[in-house]
Amino acid sequence: MTSTTLWVSELFGPTVQGEGASTGRPAMFLRTGHCPLRCSWCDTRYTWDWSLYSHKVEVRPMDVHEVWSALSAAGAELPTPLLVVTGGEPLLQREALLIVVESARREGWRVEVETSGVIEPGCLVGKVDLFTVSPKLANSGMPARRRLKISTLREFVGLTDHVFKFVVRHPSELEEVEAIVADVSPKSVVIQPEATDNVSLAERSRILVEPVIRRGWTLGTRLHITLWGDERGR
Ligand code: SF4
Repeated sequence: MTSTTLWVSELFGPTVQGEGASTGRPAMFLRTGHCPLRCSWCDTRYTWDWSLYSHKVEVRPMDVHEVWSALSAAGAELPTPLLVVTGGEPLLQREALLIVVESARREGWRVEVETSGVIEPGCLVGKVDLFTVSPKLANSGMPARRRLKISTLREFVGLTDHVFKFVVRHPSELEEVEAIVADVSPKSVVIQPEATDNVSLAERSRILVEPVIRRGWTLGTRLHITLWGDERGR
């Protein structure tokens, strides 16, 4: 692999951003392959779980110029184009990703990158409009030493525009979020109910809304789940 090759899981859109600060906004998506974490509730296991999925089928090496050419052609009609880069863990491939990001921004696109926050932003600092950083909680089943890199989280807060998004199942988990927020001081916190169907999305939103309001955070949603269920490429 060269630094001009990206492991790509999916290119899709135009669709709407389903989560985080730009929820509802028309967007093109680049989903990269591979992730260093193994969250128990991960809804994109096809980017990394080779005991369940075929690497050969799910992830393909693509030249970065080919990636940008496909995205820009499909998103050509968007009046205010947004590229959302997600994964997997996009920052595993930040050098190759930088070429796509720079191409997009040169042509006036807004670029948002989603990450678990365990890898430093590196060459992408100052190149991305927004990082959506999603540190994983104990509910992910991952040991803290693998899922939480406090110095890296502080780097995102200090160097780049960011929103921190926490995937939560129950209000009792908000104390864990409070501890991370106190340690890192992100400027914006979104609590996103963990759900891959509308029933659990509604139930978890209902039990989370009051404690989220009390803390002055934002309750996020998963608009793509509301619209299309757990369908891929949406
Ligand atoms: S960090 Fe994201 S992509 Fe990686 S295992 Fe966790 S939920 Fe899945």
